Amino acid sequence: MKLVLLGGPGVGKGTQASLLEGHLKVPHISTGEIFRENIRAGTPLGVKVREYIEAGKLVPDDITVEMVSNRLFEDDCNSGYILDGFPRTIPQAEAIGKILRQAGTDIDFILSIELPDDEIVKRLAGRRVCPGCGETYHIDYKPSGRKDYCDKCGVKLLQRSDDHEQTIRERLANYHRQTAPLLDYYGNTGKLRVINGEGGIADVFSGIMAVLGEK
Ligand code: AMP
Repeated sequence: MKLVLLGGPGVGKGTQASLLEGHLKVPHISTGEIFRENIRAGTPLGVKVREYIEAGKLVPDDITVEMVSNRLFEDDCNSGYILDGFPRTIPQAEAIGKILRQAGTDIDFILSIELPDDEIVKRLAGRRVCPGCGETYHIDYKPSGRKDYCDKCGVKLLQRSDDHEQTIRERLANYHRQTAPLLDYYGNTGKLRVINGEGGIADVFSGIMAVLGEK
């Protein structure tokens, strides 16, 4: 199954994509995570994108589309994938649509996870991530059992550099301006499904399973 997860920053796309990856056995592809890995490793791509990400701005479309289109044709994507955080602009959606159609394939469903802005700010400001394995936590909603350390691998948790209030506001503004128009774009395809992002992780996952017709 080929899925796109849409929604503002902090609505739980990454968390739900990890659960879906376990259930559907297809890779979870997070463009934000690929960028962060490149920044950590100091690659030329990481150097190019760092400033945009730290300012809460989107990375330019050409850089992002090239990276994703390479990733989608790797062997592990043969039976599908979950795209988390891509596309985020109409030009990205158009570019990837064209590339997929040329390869004789297409996205099956676009899932839009929706949450009010105030709740988004609360979730992002309390988010903590493990730089070792990528697991995410929240100081109130999903605390680590080992205080500031990852339950899975024991590494000290960090706050993402773009999860500070000023940058969160910038990311939200960009979401409304650049990404929300994708709801109309995909609304016309009949493949868009809206998911209520309020409630716990398991509730949202059940909502997703229901619209996908999975158990
Ligand atoms: P995320 O982990 O999805 O919240 O993404 C973190 C940051 O990576 C975003 O705020 C953007 O700066 C950048 N980014 C991730 N995906 C994209 C994309 N599809 N287009 C442009 N920038 C992106």
